[in-house]
Amino acid sequence: MSPSPDVVVVGGGVVGAAVAYYLSLEGARVQILERQALGSGCSFHGTGMVISNLRETQSKGPAFAINRASRNLIGGVCGQLAEETGTDTLYQERPMLLMATSESELAQRKADMQWVSQRGVQVRWLERDEVLALEPRTSPMVLGAVYEEGTAQVDGYRLTLAFAAAAEKRGATVRQREVVGLEWEGSRVTGVRTPTETVPCDAVVLAMGASAGAASEWVGFPVPVRPLKGQILRLRLPGKPLDYFVNLLELGTIVPRGDGLTSIGTSYEETDDPQPTEDFKLRVLSRGMEVLPCLDEAEVVEHLAGFRPLSADICPIIGPVPGWEGLHLAAGHGPWGIQLSPITGRLIADLVLRGETAEPLAMEHYLPARFEGFTPGPDSFRHLGWDD
Ligand SMILES: Cc1cc2nc3c(=O)[nH]c(=O)nc-3n(C[C@H](O)[C@H](O)[C@H](O)COP(=O)(O)OP(=O)(O)OC[C@H]3O[C@@H](n4cnc5c(N)ncnc54)[C@H](O)[C@@H]3O)c2cc1C
Repeated sequence: MSPSPDVVVVGGGVVGAAVAYYLSLEGARVQILERQALGSGCSFHGTGMVISNLRETQSKGPAFAINRASRNLIGGVCGQLAEETGTDTLYQERPMLLMATSESELAQRKADMQWVSQRGVQVRWLERDEVLALEPRTSPMVLGAVYEEGTAQVDGYRLTLAFAAAAEKRGATVRQREVVGLEWEGSRVTGVRTPTETVPCDAVVLAMGASAGAASEWVGFPVPVRPLKGQILRLRLPGKPLDYFVNLLELGTIVPRGDGLTSIGTSYEETDDPQPTEDFKLRVLSRGMEVLPCLDEAEVVEHLAGFRPLSADICPIIGPVPGWEGLHLAAGHGPWGIQLSPITGRLIADLVLRGETAEPLAMEHYLPARFEGFTPGPDSFRHLGWDD
C-alpha cells in the first residue's frame, strides 16, 4: 500500500492543481481528491485572460497587487510546464485594445488608463484612425481605444492538466473522490472523509471552487464564497485571426485563441441555472458586431457556462484557517482564478510547509483570518459592472 499523503488537496481545478504542483516541487507527497474530472469545473469555462488593467472599482488595490504578482509568474510557469509535461497550455502574449463606443465609455477608459499607468502598466490612448490602422475590420463607430502592452491569455483547462501532470511526475496522485468532511484531533486536522473511506494526512488544502462555501460547516469558520455564473462563446471567424485581444465594456474580451478559435464575451449572473442561454448568445454577438462587424459571419462552435467562486470582498482567500492546525483555504478566486493560480500555489506551499511567506504582498488582504466573525452585508459580493 502506498504511504498516506503529507497533504490532501480537495478540488482539482486550476487552483488545486497549482497548489499540488508547488507543494510537489518542494518534495511534499500530495494527493488531489477531485469529485468529478480534473479541470471540469470553472477552470474549463474561463476565458483565461491575464491582464493588469483591472478597473479601479473591481480591483480595489489588493486584488490588483496579487493579480500583478501572478501575471509576472504565469508566462514562465507555462514554459516550465511545457518542458516538464509536453502540455501546450496555449499561453500567448499580445497587446489588448480596450475600445470605447460612446462618450461615457471613452471617459471611463481614459480614467482607467490613468489609474493603471500610475501603477506602472504600459498603456497609451489610440484615436479612431490609429485603431482602424491596427485592425482594419474595426467599425468606424469606435471612438478610440486604450492600447495595453503585456496582456496574455492561457487555456484554463490545459493549464490545470499541466499543473497536475507536473505534480504527478513528482509523485503526486490524483483520485476521483468527493470529500464530505474532515478528521481531526484537538485543533489539528488529521485527514479527510469521503463517502467510503478516510484519507489520513498531515495537512489539507480546500480548493473547492464555487463549492467552497460548503466548507464553512466543516471548519466552523466563515468561508464566504458563492457561485457567480458566467458564459462565453467560442467562434470560428472567417478570414485571418485577430492580431489583438479586443475588450469591450458590457461584453468582455474577444480573444484569438491558440487553437484557432475566437472566444468572446462574458456575463455575471445571479442564478443557479447551469445552462448556457440563447439570450446571452444573441446579446454578445450583437454587441460584438458593434465593433467587429465581421462577427456576423462567425460560426458558434462552443457555448459554455460555469460558476466563478466569488468571495465576499473580491479578493481570493488564501492561507490557514484560524483555530486549526494544518488546514488551509485556496478559495474565492472569482473572475481571476486562472491568472491567480501560480501565486496561489506558491503562497500555499510557503504557508503549509514553512508557516510564512516571503512574497512581497500584504497578506492580511488574502488570509482567511480577515473573515473572523463575518456576516454578509449589502456591499458583500459586490460585482456589478465587472468586466473580464
Ligand atoms: C465565463 C468565465 C470567464 C472567466 N474568465 C477568466 C479570465 O479571463 N481570467 C481568469 O483568470 N479567470 C477567469 N475566470 C475565472 C476562473 O475560471 C476561475 O476563477 C477559476 O477557474 C477557479 O478555479 P478553482 O480551481 O478555484 O475552481 P474550479 O475550477 O471550479 O475547481 C474546483 C474543483 O473542486 C471540485 N470540488 C468541489 N467540492 C469538492 C469536494 N467536496 N470533493 C472533491 N472535489 C470537490 C470541483 O468538482 C471542481 O473541479 C472566468 C470564469 C468564467 C465562468
